[in-house]
Amino acid sequence: MTAQIPQTEEKIRVSEIFGPTIQGEGALIGQPTVFVRTGGCDYRCTWCDTLHAVDSQYRETWTPMTAEAVFAEIKKLSGGEPLMVSLSGGNPAIQPLGPLIEIGKNKGYRFALETQGTIAQAWFAHLNILTLSPKPPSSEMKTDWAKFEECLAAANGKPQIALKIVIFDQQDYDYARQAAQRYPTLSLYLQPGNHTPPSGQNSEQHIVDMEGINARLRWLAEKVTADQWYEATVLPQLHVLIWGNRRGV
Ligand code: SF4
Repeated sequence: MTAQIPQTEEKIRVSEIFGPTIQGEGALIGQPTVFVRTGGCDYRCTWCDTLHAVDSQYRETWTPMTAEAVFAEIKKLSGGEPLMVSLSGGNPAIQPLGPLIEIGKNKGYRFALETQGTIAQAWFAHLNILTLSPKPPSSEMKTDWAKFEECLAAANGKPQIALKIVIFDQQDYDYARQAAQRYPTLSLYLQPGNHTPPSGQNSEQHIVDMEGINARLRWLAEKVTADQWYEATVLPQLHVLIWGNRRGV
């Protein structure tokens, strides 16, 4: 009889782990966090600002790691002091992140995940906060609301859930209004898009048009108040205001 070969643990494809820094977006804006950015995405948004974690040309920079190895790095970066861990991508929902969340939560760490809402995972229910960020028309992606519903169902009412929508123009704004009408109980965050995103590995060389971003932020703030859309929270990308397109901050 041949001996059974033990199953090797499924690895997480990691693009980068960095921090502590502050969360630059959405419900946790300004809060200290360590980021785990996974590699790979089922979308290709026209204005994606994390191409180095999306485009397969950067695949060789992604490292397969066990949950234990990822947690060891988080622990090292945070000095062993539990904090919020932000799981981002790419689309982190592609990756087997359940064991990492379990290990970290047992040590007092909290976990936030942001995804566009195309792939549901049972472990969403173990997150502390789930941000669903469906992509508006300017991304040139099409929202599958049935898949989005599956993500909500997987969360099973356990984590706090936020709806975050990036807005570049009027069409995106109209999309956001419709999405908010669909899910009136979710807290809602609107964020002006960065039309000068980093191009991939050479992000630091890519100059941000801060004036243009601020103009869009003003437009959005004035529009939301003029429309008496009082449930919306309008926020910039704080890390872009502070560091521009720099990576690892
Ligand atoms: S879903 Fe996010 S990570 Fe994926 S391509 Fe769009 S912006 Fe980039």
